[in-house]
Amino acid sequence: MNKQEYMDAAEHALLHTYNRFPLVLERGEGVYLYDTDGKKYLDFAAGIAVQAFGYGKKEYNDALKKQIDLLMHTSNLYYNIPIMHAAKKFLKISDMDRVFFTNSGAEAIEGAIKAAKKYAFTRDGHAGHEIIAMQHSFHGRTIGALSVTGNAHYQEPFEPLMPGVKFAEYNNLDSVKALINDKTCAILFETVQGEGGIYPATAEFMEGVRKLCDEHDILLILDEIQCGMARTGYMFAWQKYGVKPDIMTSAKALGCGVPVGAFAMTEHVAEKSLAPGDHGTTYGGNPFVGAAVSTVIDLMEKEQIADHVKEVGAYLEERLAEIVDKYDFITAHRGVGLMQGLVCEKPVGKVAAKALEEGLIIITAGADVIRMVPPLVIEKEHVDEMIGKLEKVLDTF
Ligand SMILES: *Cc1c(COP(=O)(O)O)cnc(C)c1O
Repeated sequence: MNKQEYMDAAEHALLHTYNRFPLVLERGEGVYLYDTDGKKYLDFAAGIAVQAFGYGKKEYNDALKKQIDLLMHTSNLYYNIPIMHAAKKFLKISDMDRVFFTNSGAEAIEGAIKAAKKYAFTRDGHAGHEIIAMQHSFHGRTIGALSVTGNAHYQEPFEPLMPGVKFAEYNNLDSVKALINDKTCAILFETVQGEGGIYPATAEFMEGVRKLCDEHDILLILDEIQCGMARTGYMFAWQKYGVKPDIMTSAKALGCGVPVGAFAMTEHVAEKSLAPGDHGTTYGGNPFVGAAVSTVIDLMEKEQIADHVKEVGAYLEERLAEIVDKYDFITAHRGVGLMQGLVCEKPVGKVAAKALEEGLIIITAGADVIRMVPPLVIEKEHVDEMIGKLEKVLDTF
């Protein structure tokens, strides 16, 4: 089959929930992807911040192959060894006390919401609690996660959603304060907003919300699904601020391609939260994903990925500042580490599409942001290569 036939077959068979770029990707190597025509692309999207090690990482592939032959799935009715290792390692890097593995980011959010509700239920002896989330947030597409996603366009067709959710303005402490009442059980936000347009939380907001939570016994839930796992130069972005959440979520780069997410919490929350019968999953935390998570964390520590991200991320920011200077329709850059956005006054979808012609994969965030979430193993030379390609694209606008 040729490229057009693959695309046609997919369009006939798959539910049309995406307007895909006309690209059939076939294999990857390092930080490059190759399509069915053999065309090479520099990957600055990493499958939406998933492929932290790029493609074809030998230790990772070997570990997965070994686990496939040994045991892939058991259900959670029994113990398995890889997930025990993965859990211990995850708790060590996150400074949390208890973790539950899920199959996706959205499910991690679902779990975090249930954990917070159960905590408040145990404490107060009744249900009916509320959650404060943020405008322009993104937490996933399942009904619970969609209910806390501050995007009317995503929500509208599926209403009524989960009740008891209020939306504050991100980085505006007063707007959060104004929504707190006796029913509030949790405040939920992304430490760095991803889909909404790459907005890092301010230190003032992080510290202020933490203080509000402590004063009112409200749980702080940080969504680290996109910004976690070393993407910002810290294992989790909240560590940069020294503001620890009560519950946090992870996914995306957690499995580096194997579908896995997690929600984790402190012992204090766990004691009053989900108990046997309250939550479950058939696949979640099976031996296969356990091997993936365990290997990813080992490799990140061994290769000191977080420090590498700090260094290359600083260089990427320098080069993006040059782009902002050079093109008057590029008005700003913002981000942390290797999670960066360029604010662009031209249609960003078109920029991303044109970039493909130049052999560069970039994505968008919000209405006007070019998003860069490359593999964390990129080197400065890849940043230079990206800038060269991006300039060629921007010159045509
Ligand atoms: C991607 C994402 C999710 C949802 O994860 P899925 O695996 O797509 O369900 C939730 N929160 C944030 C911040 C994300 O970037």
